[in-house]
Order: sequence, then structure tokens, then C-alpha cells
Amino acid sequence: MVRARITAVDLRRPDLRKPFPRHFVKRLEGQAVFALTRRAKYLLASLSSEETLLMHLGMSGSLRVVSDPAAARDPHDHVVFHLSSGKAVVFNDPRRFGVMDLIPAGRLQTHPALSRLGPEPLSGDFDAAALARACRGKKTSLKAALMDQRVVAGLGNIYVSEALHVAGLSPLRLASTLATPTGAPREAAHRLVAAIKTVLRKAIARQLGRTYRDRPFLVYDRQRQACGKKTCTGTIRRRAQGGRSTFYCPVCQR
Ligand SMILES: [Zn+2]
Repeated sequence: MVRARITAVDLRRPDLRKPFPRHFVKRLEGQAVFALTRRAKYLLASLSSEETLLMHLGMSGSLRVVSDPAAARDPHDHVVFHLSSGKAVVFNDPRRFGVMDLIPAGRLQTHPALSRLGPEPLSGDFDAAALARACRGKKTSLKAALMDQRVVAGLGNIYVSEALHVAGLSPLRLASTLATPTGAPREAAHRLVAAIKTVLRKAIARQLGRTYRDRPFLVYDRQRQACGKKTCTGTIRRRAQGGRSTFYCPVCQR
């Protein structure tokens, strides 16, 4: 998409998780894409109109590049961006939890999806001190705190479970236990930040398979199986937490 112009947009539904913004097709057609970036789980395309196309893949969304736009015939191919290069970028989303929005010029920082996000987990801004500050006095569970995009951006259910296992911390523990009363990081905060970065870097490097199911997880979706940690005799447990499933080992995660 970068440096190409969007010549036409084939919009096949009025909505995904939310309706497409007003005049979506008209506002995109004829625009050049200057850059593609990412913030948290949002993909951002800067357009020559100075608007920004915001895209979220939701649970099951994907983008693919096709040389022959006529090949985009899957019933879940909801949006086709035709490009001046002759190729097309196709957004496919069977469960339709994805989102697309167009952000007017100058509104990027104040857009509700982007304005309150915490630091990027792989950036230098995310360290034990930052995590401890965000968790100081927080009477929610550690799991809920890490899922809160204001604490750290872009972590979801799976990687929170994985990182807590690597760090040996229980998802049920209070978030405030990462910090001293003055907000300084305790040892657990250092361990957790290192675990989050390791888990994400490994996942990016691995890039195995096209779905979550194909990826080898330590605890996610492994309930009733033996904990994979050396010397641990625990069994992975699954429990509902904040409306989502949490997977953890009750023996080595404290
Ligand atoms: Zn264990």
C-alpha cells in the first residue's frame, strides 16, 4: 500500500463490529498511502488527504495482497482496496470483530481508540518503573491490569497469560503488589516486564502458522495439561476472569 494510490474501494457490507464511517469509499478513493504504522493493535495508514485509515483485525481478521482483484471472492472478503500498482489489498474477517475508521486530519492524538493508550510493550518507555507507576495502589488483578490498554498497549488475553507464566506470577494477584507504597518497582515488576518482552519477541520471530491454534503456547488453551516448566509438578488451570478465560499454573505462578 505504501506509495500506492487507492484507485477504488469495493465495500461489501455496511459494518464490521461497528458501521464503516460516513462516505468511507469516497474519502479513500484517489488517496495515496504515505506510510503504514502501528499503535497498540491498530494499523494506521496515513493518506494524502491527511486523514488516517485506522484498521483493527479483531479476533479473526486478516489482510492479504492479491495480484488479481477478481480473486477476492471469499464470502468473508468484506473490503477490497484496489491500488494503482494493479494489486489489491483484501480485508477478510469471518467473525467480523474487526474495525475500520477514518480519522480526520489533526485528530489522531485525540481519537478515542488512541488517546489513552499506555506505552508500547517493546519500547524503552515500558520498563519496571513505568509498570509499577501504573499499578501502584491498583486493587484489580494483575491479569486485568495487563489487559488494560492504558497500563501497556497491545497486550491481549493470550500473551498476558503467557507472560505471567514465564514471570511465575499469578494472574489473580493484586496489581498493586508490583509496586512499593511509593510506586517504586518491586522485583516482580522487573521479572514481568522482561517476560512480556520475551514472549512478544518470540511470538513475532516465530510467525508459525496462520492461526492462534497452530502456535505452541505454554499455558493458553492447555487446561488440564502438565505445566511445561522444568521441576514444576503443576497442572494448567483455566478460569474465567473479567469475562475472559485465564490459563495459569497454580503451583509455579504465585
Ligand atoms: Zn507450573
